[in-house]
Amino acid sequence: MESIVEQNLGEIFYENLKAIGDTEMIAMINKDNNEKISYRELFVASLKTACKLKDLGIKEGDVVGIVSDNRLEYIVPVLACFYLRAIIHPTNSSYHLTELKHAYSKSKPKIIFTSNDEIGNVVQLQNETDYIKEIINFDDNYLDIVEWGAILESIEKSSDCDKKTAAIVSSSGTTGHPKSVVLTQGNLKFTMSNFKYLFVTLEFVIINAFRFRYLILSYSSESTGIGILPFYHMFGLMQTITILNCRAKIVILSKFEPVSFCEIIEKYNVHLLLIVPTIADFLAKHPIVDKYNFKSVNDIVCAGAALGYEIQTILEKKFNCAVRQGYGMTETGVATVCVLGKKCKLGSCGTPVPGVEIEVIDAQTKNTLGPNEPGEICVKSVQVMKEYLGNPEATRATIDERGFLHTGDIGYFDEDGDFFIVDRLKDLIKYKSFQVSPAELEDVLKSHNEITDAGVIGVPDGRAGELPMAFVVKVKNCKLSEQNVIDYVAERISVHKQLHGGVRFVDDLPKNSTGKLLRKKLREML
Ligand code: AMP
Repeated sequence: MESIVEQNLGEIFYENLKAIGDTEMIAMINKDNNEKISYRELFVASLKTACKLKDLGIKEGDVVGIVSDNRLEYIVPVLACFYLRAIIHPTNSSYHLTELKHAYSKSKPKIIFTSNDEIGNVVQLQNETDYIKEIINFDDNYLDIVEWGAILESIEKSSDCDKKTAAIVSSSGTTGHPKSVVLTQGNLKFTMSNFKYLFVTLEFVIINAFRFRYLILSYSSESTGIGILPFYHMFGLMQTITILNCRAKIVILSKFEPVSFCEIIEKYNVHLLLIVPTIADFLAKHPIVDKYNFKSVNDIVCAGAALGYEIQTILEKKFNCAVRQGYGMTETGVATVCVLGKKCKLGSCGTPVPGVEIEVIDAQTKNTLGPNEPGEICVKSVQVMKEYLGNPEATRATIDERGFLHTGDIGYFDEDGDFFIVDRLKDLIKYKSFQVSPAELEDVLKSHNEITDAGVIGVPDGRAGELPMAFVVKVKNCKLSEQNVIDYVAERISVHKQLHGGVRFVDDLPKNSTGKLLRKKLREML
């Protein structure tokens, strides 16, 4: 593994970008409008932004929010914060005001970067809270007016940054409402290193009877990745900064759009696809895919939710390459288990990535289990989060005294040590790989004056993985319809959390003697 241990994140990116020098090597392309940014421009923009942040009083440990779709400028404040050892807190760009308020309630960012599409909410948040000093709109060309130069001394050669917080991101954890996951410089550095090396695979190619060569299939300055996964999620963010650290090119899309996605693969000869199961489903089944030349693709890594056997098989045949599954969660630095070679067992997520220790335990007795015995997956690694911000109770409930993080996922490993994820112990719903917290939805439902109780579960769905669905107890004789309930939720919560699985009215909800909702019973009622 590359020795990046001595440097902090700011140094790593500063030195790498500086070394690229004055060349106009392209770093990122926005497929939506064809705008490009070179490595040199990215370097200057990130330095200017660091200067601007410093002028605004941002120093080590201060939080800077980002509320935006994927765009070229997104990574600029990320790098600037790395230089200053400030903390980035990106959030879902489609959040409604209440979700945004909740997301930032503990981290209280002093500055928020946003864009024209989201600025309305951010301004309202600023009016209703007292922590936001300044909003910076990516669409305002703020960099044109920034002087720079003084920043250079801020990138100290500080080697003891690994325990310092670098990023805060949202995740529901195993129960309750979304929480703020605190990730350190060490977490991010290790994840970045794993991202870089996981995707290196060696292929032996026979050119003719006398000549042959090994191809090293990783991101290099010759290669291009696709930035379709949202940058506010660790999967998308880690992919992007890894690509930049490898001096490769990344073509970004603000939203998934089938034609654009296919065009990028064909035009830029993309060899490695990092995708989630919803995109895997699209690639396997959508007729438009057959119109494009995807010969360049020789490696597909799919993570974020379970990949169906059928889709995996279709994709392997269609692309004539391995479809490697990965497993992890925001709290464990995303890539925790991954198929490392080119041989994939159907349905397996592979083996623990370097530096990761996994135990499978019996959820009741907590005893460690052996091969082929399903139990809760527990992870110990440098990648595991520091804590849930301002929530020591949730942290204690998730990370035990031995440092193992209890994922709330049920899985097993076989006699070869290959892992399979088979179920979920926790409440989490994954809609198109986006996290949906049932508790959050239930609170929204219960705020309706004609709803007395509600329980939310995920309904299995071929394309989306799971669809959030509500069991609702309504006030007797009221006229509330299923559509009224769906609309009520839609007005209050971002699109992926809406009741795509519908509503069912019931007389009461199954609960245990202490009044705890029995979601398993709700699933059985389907
Ligand atoms: P997130 O923090 O948004 O990445 O979500 C993490 C959760 O997604 C995990 O705890 C699992 O429940 C689920 N997940 C991720 N990858 C897989 C996979 N390969 N198979 C099954 N579930 C997965």
